[in-house]
Amino acid sequence: MEEKKLRIDKKVLFVLLAIFGIILLFLFVYFFLVPRFRLSNFSSKVTVPLKADFTYNVGNACYGTFFHCEEVKATESGEVDTSKLGSYTVVYTYEYESKTFEKEQTVEVVDLESPTIEVVGEEPLTYCANHKGYGYEVKATDNYDGDLTDKITSTVLDEEIVFEVTDSSGNKASLSKPAILKDEDAPTISLNGEENVFIPLNGTYVEANASATDMCDGDLTSQITIEGVVDTTVAGEYQLVYKVLDSNQNEATVTRYVYVYESSDYPSLDGKNIYLTFDDGPSKYTDKLLDVLKKYNVKATFFVTDQGLTKGYDDVIKRANDEGHTIGLHSSSHNYGYIYSSVNAYFSDLNAIQAKVERITGAKSTIVRFPGGGSNTISKNYDAGCHIMSKLTKAVQAKGYRYFDWNVDSKDAGGAKTAGEVASNVINSLGNQSTYVVLQHDIKEYSVDAVETIIQFGLSHGYTFQALKMDSPRVEHSVNN
Ligand code: ZN
Repeated sequence: MEEKKLRIDKKVLFVLLAIFGIILLFLFVYFFLVPRFRLSNFSSKVTVPLKADFTYNVGNACYGTFFHCEEVKATESGEVDTSKLGSYTVVYTYEYESKTFEKEQTVEVVDLESPTIEVVGEEPLTYCANHKGYGYEVKATDNYDGDLTDKITSTVLDEEIVFEVTDSSGNKASLSKPAILKDEDAPTISLNGEENVFIPLNGTYVEANASATDMCDGDLTSQITIEGVVDTTVAGEYQLVYKVLDSNQNEATVTRYVYVYESSDYPSLDGKNIYLTFDDGPSKYTDKLLDVLKKYNVKATFFVTDQGLTKGYDDVIKRANDEGHTIGLHSSSHNYGYIYSSVNAYFSDLNAIQAKVERITGAKSTIVRFPGGGSNTISKNYDAGCHIMSKLTKAVQAKGYRYFDWNVDSKDAGGAKTAGEVASNVINSLGNQSTYVVLQHDIKEYSVDAVETIIQFGLSHGYTFQALKMDSPRVEHSVNN
């Protein structure tokens, strides 16, 4: 049995060797003797840098056996645009007699170039506490993506800033520059609302706050602290100091002055008073004027009329009265030929405007201004030589009125034609006297437009604005008729 087994094993070995030999022979014939297209030095995938020249490469192609192979030529098809990133396919067609063979090649156009970072500025660069740089400019450009400045990131290390940017193909660039932390500039702080605030005793002070920005820290409004308090139950001057610090401890402050005053009049800060008076209205501009007066809490006097253009503005007279201004009597008709023709005619006209004012405000007025003023000479034309202004100035007082002329002429009824001219006429007339009664007309828009400037100047130069009252200082022209 042992011998037989061994013999069988030899047989099996022989068969296996024979099969192996046949396979080797077959492979030899297949690879070396069968004629076909043979291709070497060919890449089915190639990479081309952006904008580089691309040349087709068919490799070494031939048709035949391993031992004798005839060279064949190939034609290629498929475009490769190396100015655009992407994947392109090229097909090579090899021909030998009537036989053809095709081979595909994938061409990847790739960006291998990193962006460039450029920093313009004095070194060491300076940067803010929040890592925001200033005093220098940094730019990044890329051969394919163009401007990449927006994509730059910066990292602040010890005494250096590292700028980095990556293009859309993942190529990175990095640039390091020496740098120092620096913020020597204080924030900018400014008041919201007015610098001078006037509040009646027991009124309400509404904090308007302030705004602050810092070159390095940005908006610091929420960091503002306010020193000082306003006690509206005690009259006097209060200061509120708004303070802000940036992260480098640079400080900025701004002060608001709040005046709590006792009566309807402001405290006379240093005894200089301005009485703004407006004749011939109301008009379509009077509401706007009242807005300005309200904004500064300034009281004025309106010498009203009942001429054609003033009709339809009764509500404006009511508003002026309700907001604490004085409603004075100017004239109903403002017709010189009538009102100065006789004492009776004058009072007939005055009673008419008085009736209108009483109807609107519910109260009689005792404050009067003569059309043309107490010094007018126009009345001579109509009074038949009876010196009517001498009579009227006495008669109105005998009836319980007080009349007011002016000592500052804005010239808005002649001469001045712009808000700027009106404002400068008034401002240039102001000095250190205790009483300035200003003549303006609220039927002139440019005169109304001058009021805010006049108020701002007055408040910032120590003047107090008041409405005319029976006990106000007398400003009366000398009578010329
Ligand atoms: Zn007038």
